[in-house]
Amino acid sequence: MTRIVVLGGGFAGVSVARRLEKKLRRDEAEIAIVSRDNFTLFTPMLPEVSSGGLEPRHVATPVRAQLRRTKFVLGEIARVDLAERAVEARHPITGDVTRLEYDHIVLALGSVTSTFGIPGVAEHTLPLKTLEDAETLRNRIIAALEQAVVTPAGPDRDRLLTFAVVGGGYTGCECAGELVDFFHSIVPFYRPLQLGDVRMILIEGGKALLPDLPEKMGRYTTRNLARRGVELVIGDGVTRIDGHTIALQSGRNIPCGTVVWSAGVRPSPVLRELPGCKHARNGGIVVNQDMSVDGQPGVWALGDAAWIPDKPDADLTDKTAWYPATAQHAIREGPALADNIIATLRGKPTKPFHYTSLGTMASLGARRGVAQLPGGFVVTGFLAWVMWRTYYLARLPGLDRQVRVAFDWTLGLIFPRDIAELRLYTERGQLQAQRDAGFVPPGPPA
Ligand SMILES: Cc1cc2nc3c(=O)[nH]c(=O)nc-3n(C[C@H](O)[C@H](O)[C@H](O)COP(=O)(O)OP(=O)(O)OC[C@H]3O[C@@H](n4cnc5c(N)ncnc54)[C@H](O)[C@@H]3O)c2cc1C
Repeated sequence: MTRIVVLGGGFAGVSVARRLEKKLRRDEAEIAIVSRDNFTLFTPMLPEVSSGGLEPRHVATPVRAQLRRTKFVLGEIARVDLAERAVEARHPITGDVTRLEYDHIVLALGSVTSTFGIPGVAEHTLPLKTLEDAETLRNRIIAALEQAVVTPAGPDRDRLLTFAVVGGGYTGCECAGELVDFFHSIVPFYRPLQLGDVRMILIEGGKALLPDLPEKMGRYTTRNLARRGVELVIGDGVTRIDGHTIALQSGRNIPCGTVVWSAGVRPSPVLRELPGCKHARNGGIVVNQDMSVDGQPGVWALGDAAWIPDKPDADLTDKTAWYPATAQHAIREGPALADNIIATLRGKPTKPFHYTSLGTMASLGARRGVAQLPGGFVVTGFLAWVMWRTYYLARLPGLDRQVRVAFDWTLGLIFPRDIAELRLYTERGQLQAQRDAGFVPPGPPA
């Protein structure tokens, strides 16, 4: 039987496996999916997790619940050997290695936060890419407020109460908007602190917020965030960050205790080293229009990990000639790629991937949003926010998750956000989890 191995249980990987399950007979192929997490993270709702608006588990749909006959292997990819046609995955807790051999491999490992090599970013900023990132950010904010109430007024307290988001794309704007909502809800718990003591800054190096979207969306976002007290620093890039200060190109220094880095992503570093594949400058796998890797029969890539051209002979320096790295695209690429694997197995020609974006939406918190609809039509304000919630709730995988999120949203209308600081995602929490599971012998506290 043909063996198909999909690497990555995100939007792209799961959509490939679902289509393969649907279209392939059981005796035609064995399908396996390998991923370091046993769930698909619904990233569009991640900013709301970081602000305590949604429970972390409600935006994480188990991979096993989305698939029926695909074998799921929990593991961090340790090695991909295209010559031997084998993959090795290391269990995240036990470290045991599982080896899988394949006839077709699908590279869907997504992306990681890009620091662009700016000094101090890796050490002193918080990314917003994973569930751990969102919970760490929430905990950091709560810890800063707890510390601020026992710190006398002065520069140290001001720094603790200064929060910055770097990156004015839709993720950065959504994050800044959500955090403002969070502060509105929780600062009253921290008397005598006042809302006016908390400083929220959004920094964008380009000329405007939402630089890749229609100007009207950027203008509305700028007005909305400024009105809600976000200090906007636009057209001034970050040159260095240390534990206390953000240094900007203009020479300005901003004392700041918590910095969220949301300035961009780059494809998974695992793929950067893969020999025999063409790579873009950021390490992404450059594929043909049918998402196959040139010169490597049986190797395919999609999602954030891949550069997929929307026309033949696309120029790598022309950003518009490649499909963007969004969930919207990943879930359309998946079925198209699966169909091409099936066509190959059945000796039929493959088809190039074509897709026209449905538009882009961003939720800014406080029941406001911006949306670009098909045809370039722009909607802003309450209506855009309702559209965002309706669309993304419908796209969240799993009816049970949809119901849980709908309940979270409803309860959020009545109750303030939670300030319980659960330290599950710290290194100490992880070690304790390993001990509890019996994989690490008991010992002194970490
Ligand atoms: C905060 C945030 C908000 C976003 N909002 C939107 C939005 O509103 N609309 C939109 O269209 N897009 C949005 N995006 C972008 C979207 O999340 C990505 O484009 C999409 O996730 C890409 O899908 P993917 O399957 O390629 O990668 P992912 O969804 O990242 O999946 C990759 C999978 O591979 C696994 N993996 C990675 N490395 C390894 C490894 N070494 N070993 C084993 N497993 C591994 C991961 O655990 C994950 O399951 C947002 C992204 C972020 C971070």
